[in-house]
Amino acid sequence: MDYGMAPELEEFRAEVRAFVAEHKPAIAPKAGVRSAENAEELELLKVWTGKLFAAGYLGGDWPEQYGGAGPSYSAEHSVVVGEEIARARAPLMTGAGNLIAHALFDFGTDAQRARYLPGIRSGRQIFCQLFSEPGSGSDLASLRTKAVPVDGGGYRVTGQKVWTTHGQWADFGYLLARTDADAPKHKGISAFVVDMRSPGIDIRPLREMTGTSDFNEVFLDNVLIDADALVGDLNKGWLIANSSLGHERSGVAASAVRLRQNVEALIDLAKVVSRHGRPAIEDGHVQERLGSLSASVDALSALVYANISRWSRKTERTYDAPMAKLLFSEIGVEMERFALELSGEAGILVEGDPDAIDRGRWQDGFLYARAYTIAGGSSEIMRNIIAERGLGMPR
Ligand SMILES: Cc1cc2nc3c(=O)[nH]c(=O)nc-3n(C[C@H](O)[C@H](O)[C@H](O)COP(=O)(O)OP(=O)(O)OC[C@H]3O[C@@H](n4cnc5c(N)ncnc54)[C@H](O)[C@@H]3O)c2cc1C
Repeated sequence: MDYGMAPELEEFRAEVRAFVAEHKPAIAPKAGVRSAENAEELELLKVWTGKLFAAGYLGGDWPEQYGGAGPSYSAEHSVVVGEEIARARAPLMTGAGNLIAHALFDFGTDAQRARYLPGIRSGRQIFCQLFSEPGSGSDLASLRTKAVPVDGGGYRVTGQKVWTTHGQWADFGYLLARTDADAPKHKGISAFVVDMRSPGIDIRPLREMTGTSDFNEVFLDNVLIDADALVGDLNKGWLIANSSLGHERSGVAASAVRLRQNVEALIDLAKVVSRHGRPAIEDGHVQERLGSLSASVDALSALVYANISRWSRKTERTYDAPMAKLLFSEIGVEMERFALELSGEAGILVEGDPDAIDRGRWQDGFLYARAYTIAGGSSEIMRNIIAERGLGMPR
C-alpha cells in the first residue's frame, strides 16, 4: 500500500536499502529481538551497530552535539531505517544503548554523557535494561531491588532482575532500584548506570523454548556503585524510565514490514504444501485465512503510519502505540500458528533438520511469537490502556 511518503524519504529509503544490503552482518535471520549466540556473532553485531550510527541511520534523532543529524532528521527517517532493516531480515542494534542515551540527554550529567555515549555510538559498549523483576513486570513500580546509601558516598544494591535481554553480553546496565522504601511506590525509585562486571553481580542466561538464550536472570548481591552512577535526581527514576521508553518508534513500522513479508512467505508455503491431495493454495479455507491475515496487516500498516504522523505532529494519544502493539503481536501469533498448521507433519521439525520447511523459519517464529505479546507491555495491559484511556471505560 502507498502511505504517501515524501519523495525525499523515498530517496533516503533507496540509500538505506543499498547500505543495509552492503553491510548487514552474516548472521542467519531469526524471529524477534535476539541476542548473539556466541562471541563471533557478538562481534559482528557490534560492528554493525557502529556502522549504523556512523552512517547516521541510528541516533539521527540525538542532539546534534552528541552526533545527531539535526532538525532535518524526522520520525519518518527512523521509520524508514527500521523498515529497511526488517525488509533485509537484518538484526537491529544490540542492547538498550538508545534507551539509556535518551535518559542521559534529558537527565544525565555532562560527565555521564561523555563517559557512555561514545561507546554506544561505536557499538563497542552494550547496555542492558535492568527494570523487570520476578513479581514486577506489568506493575513495574512495585520493584523491590534496593539501593541503600553507603558512608562516604555511593550505594549498595541488592535484588534480582529477570528477562534481561543481552545481559550476558552487556558492559553496563540501566538499572531501576528502590531508594525510598517509605515513599509511594512510584516516588521511591531511582535510575542508575551499573557496571555489569562489578563484584556481586551474577548473570545467569535462561534457555528459552527457541533453544537460544536471549534473556537472563541477574542477581545483585551487595553491589557497590559510585554516587555518580545515579542518573537524574534521587527518587525520580519512574519519570526518567517512562520518558526514555517513549522515544523508540522505528520498531512498530518494522514489525508491519516483517508481517507483510510473512504473508508473502505464507502464500509461497501454501503453494508447495498440499491439502486433501491438492496444493493448499487452491483450498477455499486457506485462501480465506490468507486474505484475512493480509487485510489485518494492511490495517496495521495504516494504523502505524497514522500513529507516526501524529507522533511527528506531537498529537499522539496515549493509546495509539498500544493499539499498534496489540495488533502486531496478536497477528504475529495467529500467522505463525497458521504456518505450522499448513506445514502439516513437517511443522514439528526444527531448524537444522534437512526436511524442515524454509529451514525452520516458521518453527522459530512460532516459538518466539508469544514473546511479543508479553515484552514491552503484555496484550492484557495494552487492552486495559485502550479500554480506559481510549474508550473511557472504567478500570
Ligand atoms: C522477550 C522479552 C524480553 C524482555 N526484555 C526485557 C529487558 O531487557 N529488560 C527488562 O527489564 N524487562 C524485559 N522484559 C520484561 C517485560 O517487560 C515483562 O515481561 C512484561 O512487562 C510483563 O511482566 P511480567 O512478565 O512480570 O508479567 P506479569 O506482570 O506478572 O503478568 C502476568 C500475566 O498477568 C497479566 N496481567 C498483569 N497485570 C494485569 C492487569 N492489571 N490487568 C490484566 N492482566 C494483567 C499479564 O498480561 C500477564 O498475562 C522482557 C520480556 C520479554 C517477553
